[in-house]
Amino acid sequence: MCTKRKQPAAFPPHAVNAQRANLIEGKKRCQSGRKVLPGRGKAISAALMEGLAPLHVHNWVRYTAIAIQALSDMKTTNYDAIIIGAGHNGLVTACYLARAGWKVLVLERRYIVGGACVTEETFPGFKVSTAAYVNSLFRKEIIQDLHLESYGLKILERNPSSFTPFPDGRHLLLGPDPTVNHLQIAKFSLRDANAYPAYEAMLERMATVLEPLLTISPPNLVTPGLRDLWTLYRAGKPFQALGPAMSEAFEILTAPARQILDRWFESEALKATLATDAVIGAMASPSTPGTAYVLFHHVMGETNGKRGVWGYVQGGMGGITQSLAAAARDLRVEIRCEAEVARILVRDGTVQGVALAKGEECYAPVIASNADAQVTFTRLLDSKQLPPEFAEAVSRISYESASLKINVALGELPNFLACPGLEPGPHHRGTIHICPDQDYIERAFDDAKYGQPSQRPILECTIPSVVDPTVAPAGKHLMSIFVQYAPYRLRGATWDDLRESFADRCFALLNEYAPNFQRAVLARQVLTPLDLERTFNLTGGNIFQGAMTLNQLFACRPVPGFADYHTPIRGLYLCGSAAHPGGGVMGAAGANAAREILRAASFRRFSPL
Ligand SMILES: Cc1cc2nc3c(=O)[nH]c(=O)nc-3n(C[C@H](O)[C@H](O)[C@H](O)COP(=O)(O)OP(=O)(O)OC[C@H]3O[C@@H](n4cnc5c(N)ncnc54)[C@H](O)[C@@H]3O)c2cc1C
Repeated sequence: MCTKRKQPAAFPPHAVNAQRANLIEGKKRCQSGRKVLPGRGKAISAALMEGLAPLHVHNWVRYTAIAIQALSDMKTTNYDAIIIGAGHNGLVTACYLARAGWKVLVLERRYIVGGACVTEETFPGFKVSTAAYVNSLFRKEIIQDLHLESYGLKILERNPSSFTPFPDGRHLLLGPDPTVNHLQIAKFSLRDANAYPAYEAMLERMATVLEPLLTISPPNLVTPGLRDLWTLYRAGKPFQALGPAMSEAFEILTAPARQILDRWFESEALKATLATDAVIGAMASPSTPGTAYVLFHHVMGETNGKRGVWGYVQGGMGGITQSLAAAARDLRVEIRCEAEVARILVRDGTVQGVALAKGEECYAPVIASNADAQVTFTRLLDSKQLPPEFAEAVSRISYESASLKINVALGELPNFLACPGLEPGPHHRGTIHICPDQDYIERAFDDAKYGQPSQRPILECTIPSVVDPTVAPAGKHLMSIFVQYAPYRLRGATWDDLRESFADRCFALLNEYAPNFQRAVLARQVLTPLDLERTFNLTGGNIFQGAMTLNQLFACRPVPGFADYHTPIRGLYLCGSAAHPGGGVMGAAGANAAREILRAASFRRFSPL
């Protein structure tokens, strides 16, 4: 049985030991699956009151035993915090709270930790990164703080980082090497080749301004206090330092990606390659305002100290979450899989604990939800428990999305017409873009606007087995295909009807560029937006737990007034990518949430009230 303890503070060592012993006891009871009453006091009085009825001795003995049991439960300790969901952010929050001496329970509905950052043996012998497939955003300070490399985390650099084959047989390779980039871009435009270093320097400049915002708790702009005004000032200061380049920064935040790319470059080959980053996970085309930020969001990370370089995680993306889970367990975090939370228990506007789908209830004064805002506030809570204006704001969050993922086991590498050869080549290492020009993206998006999957979709393919042989059996390869546009909302059809035929369309398209592709396929897994919703509990199949549009970023994520990870329910926090800074395997939301939770706890501890 899990029982409630009031003070979620740091403890002296003797208290921690006593708690630990009690926790183990409490854990055993939790695992027995026995349902408990929400309040010990109620259990005692119910037992005593019922016991006062004119019953024979047998009942007196029974009720006395219940009362003694309830009293003894009062001695047991409970969790200081419960995390709903073991996505990478939930695990990060759990680790930081545990490092501060908290007793943390993580409840995950799937059989495996990791959320959308996971490795699964979908095909025998293959380690498939089911959803997320490349890393660059994961915060290096988290890797260091939690010693994740000592738990096996290894990021493998990709060089080159992208390969775009074109229908006319030409190709473009881009990567971290400026000389190679110049040579490659010059094949299409010397002017662009010369401009490219300045474009990269501009992105670098913007990164120095925007990146620090990722790790702060956004201010409350609805009812700002002194701290919010200070945060706003701190957030705005680096923009001021940009001087005249400030307008460029605001353009990045608001403009269509196409507007920026068209100004910098003339070659469609280069622009199309760069533009794909602007629409990843978005129900938008490069000419949609706000997409420049998505483009930028994707260059904000680094691999081994190299800005904007994306890498593979050895053994698949689950390498991140498995190392986090191992670190968490060493910090005595209890992680339970196949433990879906059905309700968040609230009394008088304050969280009490959670009720699991299997009937059990667990208690803690702090609950952090790694699930998206829609799941947290409309499925796990009753909207009547929320202020109406907050519930209304949550109902307005856009989960529009149009991403589909196909994982493929291959008997041999794709043999590209633009770069012939079955042996692993540089072009197999990075992301392979099937997207010849920006108009192609616009047309693909047009279909989606009218509720149809793209006739000629954009494909972003990666073959991690070329860089990391551990993910596929010898001689075989693993390919991940991220596809746009596959709108969640279809007109006149369902994804259960279209899943396989749309995957066939994607395969036929890839075959135009690499004619051996279709016959090399050994097995495939197709994850439509509906499947992403069903598998990962991602509303609308949105890969970022909510669209990354300007009105849903920073101080507006998840909704204005609650971007600092707090919610209107006391003790309830959001700790996943539904909160600032949004989607991507970054860990920033989880770390920021932990910081806010600890801050609130220490404030409560020292508050005279
Ligand atoms: C197909 C796809 C491809 C992507 N590609 C990339 C990429 O290459 N690189 C990148 O950086 N990002 C990528 N992303 C985005 C990135 O994976 C996510 O933004 C990130 O993993 C979100 O992490 P999170 O911890 O915030 O939430 P999630 O990973 O969504 O984790 C939430 C967890 O909560 C659990 N949960 C939900 N409800 C409950 C409940 N009621 N009870 C218990 N548990 C619950 C879920 O099962 C899940 O495990 C991709 C996402 C998808 C879907």
